[in-house]
Amino acid sequence: MIVREEVLPKNVECPHCGAAISLDDNERIERRYICPECGNLVDQSSPQAELQDPDELLRFKQQVSGKSDEELFEILAHLDDYKPAFLRLVEEEIESRRIDPDRRKQLEIKNEESAAKAASNADEPLSLTMSILMFVFPFGILQFMLTQYYRNNGYTKKYDDCWRMMLYGIGFYALVFLLLRVL
Ligand SMILES: [Zn+2]
Repeated sequence: MIVREEVLPKNVECPHCGAAISLDDNERIERRYICPECGNLVDQSSPQAELQDPDELLRFKQQVSGKSDEELFEILAHLDDYKPAFLRLVEEEIESRRIDPDRRKQLEIKNEESAAKAASNADEPLSLTMSILMFVFPFGILQFMLTQYYRNNGYTKKYDDCWRMMLYGIGFYALVFLLLRVL
């Protein structure tokens, strides 16, 4: 989307009283201003914030209709990964399928379980063994791949711990190196 289109024009007409108003840059970008004539707040920020590229939405809608019920509920389990407009399409698709209430309940429970699992993965710390390994061997492509694996699978804390131990390890070796130079 072109940024220019997301910004209000410099000169607008108040939707309340029809007065011609010129906006400053902040008002144009925030899409929110108070009319100096009638004092009404004009807020065009929220609908615009959710506005999506129509082609992108259309493609997503086509994908959604090809997904299984399980996959749709799976998407709802990862709310944070999707923009509101996309989630609305998923919800509409689910409604339109008229899924049997029992089955729906079942899918929702599964959904909650996988959300809970994802949350606990995110908080799970790096094991002591792995911490020591990362500290002792802080360099290498395997180590880097491991951090990527943690990141891609939602192990947020493990990912952070990995990098921390690698940095400690690098710091430790740097210190040893310096000491050897000095002594
Ligand atoms: Zn006005």
